[in-house]
This record gives sequence, structure tokens and C-alpha cells, in this order.
Amino acid sequence: METRRIFLQKASLSAMALTVPTLTPFTAMADSISEFTRDEKTLRVAIMGLGSYGTRVAEAIQTCKRVKLVGVISGTPSKVLTWREKYGIPEKNCYNYENFDAIKDNPDIDAVYVITPNALHKDQVIRVAKAGKHAISEKPMAVNAADGQAMVDACNAAGVHLLIGYRMHFEPNTLEAIRMRKSGELGDIRFFQGLSGFTIGDPTQWRLNPELSGGGAMMDIGIYSINGARYMVGEEPIWVTAQEVKTNPEKFKEGIDETITFQLGFPSGVIASCLSTYNMNNLDRFYLNGSKGWVEMQPSTGYGPIKGMTHKGPLDEPIVTHQTVQMDEMAAIIFDGKKPEVPVDGEEGVKDMKIIDAIFKAVKTGEKVTLSLT
Ligand code: NAD
Repeated sequence: METRRIFLQKASLSAMALTVPTLTPFTAMADSISEFTRDEKTLRVAIMGLGSYGTRVAEAIQTCKRVKLVGVISGTPSKVLTWREKYGIPEKNCYNYENFDAIKDNPDIDAVYVITPNALHKDQVIRVAKAGKHAISEKPMAVNAADGQAMVDACNAAGVHLLIGYRMHFEPNTLEAIRMRKSGELGDIRFFQGLSGFTIGDPTQWRLNPELSGGGAMMDIGIYSINGARYMVGEEPIWVTAQEVKTNPEKFKEGIDETITFQLGFPSGVIASCLSTYNMNNLDRFYLNGSKGWVEMQPSTGYGPIKGMTHKGPLDEPIVTHQTVQMDEMAAIIFDGKKPEVPVDGEEGVKDMKIIDAIFKAVKTGEKVTLSLT
């Protein structure tokens, strides 16, 4: 199937080369892709970090309407070769972590999607901004709010967009739940529950190294409950309390949280009760309770399909590839100034980072920590 897909992709590229005039002759199809895909409305993206999620995003981009994968930034030459062959990426659009500042002189790349370990996002996004390119950063955008704000400031100073890979903000069942809440169908919102977790394997991976991850489950998966609490409730939290449990201090060292339960309080009196863990399976559930109705989603943030039930019946919006929709919508944000239903800009990312900072402080002090996000 993979072979057939690559064949079809190459065949369609050949067809395009036949029908669209190119200004310069080309010697190899791979080196000419940017010539015949150039289009003011097409977001031409380079992916930085060709790991597991970068690979998923690259595949999803293949079915985007207005996004093209045109470049890569990687420290592994063998991966670059594989990606060049697979996606027809020209050599001139390939960079490594040392030389990617030179992307500023490359007119064929509009944006860089940073999909590397969390602690690297800040410096990499700032370098992308200084190169004059739009930056898309994976979540968590950084390892604390101050770093996140520095990224926002750098992108503002450079006049480029900073968008965070919050794919759920474009997911149809999630948007339907938000519509129900906004329309009043759920009545007054009273309570949200978010459960986010999985059992993490290999103890040597970067996710369990605080230097690269900036934290454990909270940075990686707990952030879905934090972000979800905000878009499901539709308010910004004003306080947080949190408790940590660590059953395996050898695997989950200092600076790597294993399991944290946390509570958020919202201005209207809504409360949220959430769980973030690297030590339990099948935890991907949101529950929103209002005075007239409720929404339950399980899975609520996995790659899909998202399944949901409400007091009125099932959520049955179309099943989409999250990353495909996300990228097309990001092209619309960048080129058309489109305002998404739930923001995905750097400021949105900083709010989640402020909450994570506050959760870690609450765990450490045992106190209720107040928040000011508006
Ligand atoms: P991964 O380990 O599979 O890939 C990380 C990539 O970064 C690798 O290609 C690796 O070579 C590269 N890298 C560059 N410098 C590195 C360094 N100093 N140390 C280690 N690796 C280095 O990880 P992943 O699962 O692809 O996660 C990458 C980012 O994407 C993380 O921020 C993660 O939170 C995020 N992510 C988001 C989603 C989502 O659904 N939005 C899902 C998975 C991961």
C-alpha cells in the first residue's frame, strides 16, 4: 500500500510537471518540486525533527489542500535521504541543526514546524523567527511560561506567526461539544473532569530526561487535560491545587512527574478535576457537566476517532485526520487571517505553560496557587 501511495504521489507530480510550465529546466524531479508547487496560498513547510510525530505530520500533510512539505531540518543524514526520496524534497531545502539559520535566504519555505524534544523548542523557534519564517511549535511550546513568552516576543519582533500544534482545536467532535456549551444546550457549566495518561516504556527516552522534556507526564500528556479544561469550560482558571504520587522514583527521577492530580477553579465557580500520569493505561477521557446536560468524550484527545456521548445522544461529527485539518487551518490563519474557534497562537500556549508552572508550584508547596491568565 505504501509503495502504491508513493507511486501515485510521484505520478501526480509528473502529471503536474507536464501541465504546469516551469521557468527553469530541472534535472531531477525532487530538486524541482518547489518550482511547480509555488502558490501564494500554499503554505510551504519544513519539518524540524524527523521522529515519530514528525513522521505522522508529514504523512498527514500529503492530503492537505493548501500545505506542502517542502523541506526538512534534521541531524540524521540517513533520515534526510529517506524523506527526500519519499516526499520529493529538494536538496537545497534540507538543513541540519547547525546551519538552519540559512533558511532565511530560502524563498521556497514559508514556515518551520518544530517537532523536537520539548526543551529544544524555545531556541529553535527563536532561530526560525530570526530567519523570518513562520514558526509552528509542538506542544508543550516550551518548558515554562517565561520561555514560552520569549518565543512569543521573538515571533512578534520578527513579524511572523507562532502557532502551537493544538490539533484538538480543529477536531469536529470537540468543536461540536464546544458549540453545545456555547449555545447554552448544556445550561450553566458546573464541572469538568479530564483524565490523561498512558504507561510509558523505555526508561532511556528523552521524555524521561528532564533536560530535554522539562517534566514528565504533565508536559507530555497532562497538558491535554489542562488545555481541554480551558476549551471545554470556556473560561480561564483562577486557581490551582495539585498533588503528586510517585511509585517508581528510579524510573521517574527528580524533575519527572509520574502521576499528578490537580484541580482548577474558574471565575464562574466551575471546578475541574484532572489526572496526568505516565503510569496508567486507557486514560483519555473528558467529561463536562452542566445544569441542563453533559458531554463525555472517550477517547478525547487520541489520534482518533474521537468518540463522544451527550445527554442528547452520540457525537457523530466526521472522522478526520487531525494533523491534516490542523495544517490546512493553519495555512488559513497565516494567509487569510482566519480566527480559529479556539486559538492556537503563542499566547494560548503561554497560558498552558503558566498553569503547568502553577501546578508544579502547588505540588511543591502544597498550597492553592492563584493564576492570572486574562
Ligand atoms: P521522537 O523522539 O519520536 O522524535 C524527536 C525527534 O527530535 C527525533 O527525530 C530526534 O532525532 C530529534 N532530536 C533533535 N535533537 C534531539 C536531541 N537533542 N535529543 C533527542 N532527540 C532530538 O519524539 P516525538 O514523539 O516525535 O515528539 C516530538 C515533539 O512532538 C514533542 O514536543 C512532543 O510533545 C510532540 N508530540 C506531539 C503530539 C501531538 O499529538 N500533538 C504527539 C506526539 C508528540
